[in-house]
Amino acid sequence: MDDIRLDPAGSGGEFGHVKLNKKGSFKDFYKVGSILGEGAFGVVRLVTCKSDHSKWAVKVIDKRKVDPGDHSLQTEIDILCRVKQPNCICLREWFDEPTRVLLVMELVTGGTLLDHIVNSGHFNEEVGRKIFRDLATGLEYLHAHGIAHRDLKPENFMLSSKSPDASVKLADYGLSKILVDPAGGNERTVCGTPSYVAPEILRCMTGKEETYNAIAADAWSLGVNLFIILSGYPPFWRHKTNQKKLFDAIGRNDWSFDQTCWKDISVDAKKMIKDLMEPDVEKRYTVKQALQHKWCAETASEKALPETLANLSEFTHRFKKAGLAVLFKTRLTRLVTGLKNTGKRFIKSPRGDDDL
Ligand code: AMP
Repeated sequence: MDDIRLDPAGSGGEFGHVKLNKKGSFKDFYKVGSILGEGAFGVVRLVTCKSDHSKWAVKVIDKRKVDPGDHSLQTEIDILCRVKQPNCICLREWFDEPTRVLLVMELVTGGTLLDHIVNSGHFNEEVGRKIFRDLATGLEYLHAHGIAHRDLKPENFMLSSKSPDASVKLADYGLSKILVDPAGGNERTVCGTPSYVAPEILRCMTGKEETYNAIAADAWSLGVNLFIILSGYPPFWRHKTNQKKLFDAIGRNDWSFDQTCWKDISVDAKKMIKDLMEPDVEKRYTVKQALQHKWCAETASEKALPETLANLSEFTHRFKKAGLAVLFKTRLTRLVTGLKNTGKRFIKSPRGDDDL
């Protein structure tokens, strides 16, 4: 088996060498602490910087577990090296050792977004607006830097801390892409998580269209996420156990504000969702437009939304019970043709070359 090569030019791209620490080994600089979580390649641990005692999270990637033909690790490091924004999880530095790669990332301690909302025990439209503003700000930064996230879903939204004013951060660039066309056009790779995927990606999957715009597809997914955050259930909930029906419903744009929880949600918030989940890509809001939208720019209602909270509690509970939280977080265990599993994300490159 070929060895995985992680030279700064190949992973971390033009910025890789800046963040690659060559002055010593990882253990010279950091004291290793408890396990924070586990991904496909290895564990994520809490670490303390020996010089200033600051806390960080380190992702330890066992090179033996990386398929040399799979460039997604290089891509993820490349993206992490470029990203520096408060609503995106950022990389401090990385180490390339003989058997492992160590990514020292900013530590987030607030858990995932939906758990944070449910545990806080209260929710209103203003809370939802602030969450959305954070997510859209992080995403707009990625888009402005020619990066599409391509896997926007609540499990990939983390809270900086457990405090009520914690900021929301985009995490997991495992399916993200540095775009050839910075405007997002001419993409062919079918990827994402089924419930969040834009209709034009499905048209590429079935051969009805050849290419799609990855930045516009992210905007659609952001709309799906806003729907979930404000209501506590997904827009295509009726079809969640049958992937064919789910994809048909996405293609027909068959969703509505059909549950009672929407009666207390403003017209402006609903308009924002509609403008993002606009099937016509030309008419769809960009993330930049969403940030300028009246609902996002102004303070929203603080009336309690207990029904949304109850729905969110059920949504996160069902998710965990099904064990999907583990599946969703298994980065890089991708289904190449993977359209069998309803919840799992998938990636399929018709060219078979660009970013698998
Ligand atoms: P991943 O390999 O990126 O899927 O991460 C596996 C798990 O490690 C996640 O589910 C989190 O629980 C935890 N984790 C990853 N990154 C961080 C971070 N920057 N700060 C705290 N915990 C993290």
